[in-house]
Amino acid sequence: MSTQDTHLHIDGVSKYFDDVQALKDVDLKIERGSFVCLLGPSGCGKTTLLRIIAGFENASAGRLMLDGTDISKMPPHKRGFGMVFQSLALFPHMTVAKNIAYGLKLRKVSGAEQRNRVEELLNVIELPDIADRPVSALSGGQRQRVAIARALAIQPPLFLLDEPLSALDAKLRDNMQIELRQLQQKFGVTTILVTHDQHEAMMLADELVVLKDGAVRQAAAPSVVYQNPADSFVADFLGAANLVDAGLYKDGEVNLFGKVTKVAADVPNGTRMQAAIRAEHVHLHPAKSDAAGPIGTIDFMRDLGPSMELIIALQGERLRVRCPNVDCQGLEIGSKVTVSIDQTHLSLFKAE
Ligand code: ATP
Repeated sequence: MSTQDTHLHIDGVSKYFDDVQALKDVDLKIERGSFVCLLGPSGCGKTTLLRIIAGFENASAGRLMLDGTDISKMPPHKRGFGMVFQSLALFPHMTVAKNIAYGLKLRKVSGAEQRNRVEELLNVIELPDIADRPVSALSGGQRQRVAIARALAIQPPLFLLDEPLSALDAKLRDNMQIELRQLQQKFGVTTILVTHDQHEAMMLADELVVLKDGAVRQAAAPSVVYQNPADSFVADFLGAANLVDAGLYKDGEVNLFGKVTKVAADVPNGTRMQAAIRAEHVHLHPAKSDAAGPIGTIDFMRDLGPSMELIIALQGERLRVRCPNVDCQGLEIGSKVTVSIDQTHLSLFKAE
């Protein structure tokens, strides 16, 4: 996006719980209408950040600017954000329509307008015929959609979700991810979702914010985070990357499996380096072919349908490899293979 339109600026936010620092100087500019996923391992501060945005916690330092206005001290109900948390807190004995209309009623919206809005939302979530059913009679996925509709009914400036899909089984979760993304686009609402699931974050986000120990490690589009991870933690957390020793940096070169490799790195000579190599960027050739490269041994193979996953024992490392099924003809456990690594997709970092 060339013209920046910052909707929410999380401006240098830190949070202490006694002597635990849950957030460390988090600075993020969230674009209007974007879908942002806060991603990171348990305890990295995702929920704390979302709760500060919602107004349930106060930051120890820093401020929140919504459309240029400081809302740090504004109570949650005045912020009027739409929220869906893991425990849905729908009213089980109320009908679907009453649940969706709840926030509108609190805001004293007229009965006719409430009915119109509920009808419109039921169409959007593709459940037009269940308005009069009690929520307790719905399936998990239907309840999730109702919770989303209820949060969006008030036309919130921000839509906040904390692990909303984690209680659903894998297939339903996958479908709901698609639906959630489509709904968000339909409404154009600026959305912030917390998850520890990297696939979910990749699937949903325009911008992925990777947190560790309360600090932002990288904030960028999912494809950028995947292709150019900022550090070895991000590369590892996003899955399927091999992290291997690349020796000591010297004059623009490292040593990868005995092969001198040119790298541009802003580190002094003598720095120990690590390379992140994605499983799909390792190519295998029969050891007797002309291909140049180090020779490893296939230690493990499994058929994933369209592709094979292999583990290659190579110079003391175990390299995970994924390649199209057709390229693996004739290979078996114990086979020797020449390994070549796609240099254009290599990420190198200071070893952590
Ligand atoms: P999870 O994925 O497990 O929910 P998270 O990334 O959402 O984790 P937070 O719940 O934000 O992490 O917690 C961040 C840190 O702050 C943790 O060390 C946690 O123990 C601590 N913490 C969170 N809330 C409180 C609290 N109310 N009192 C004390 N410490 C807290």
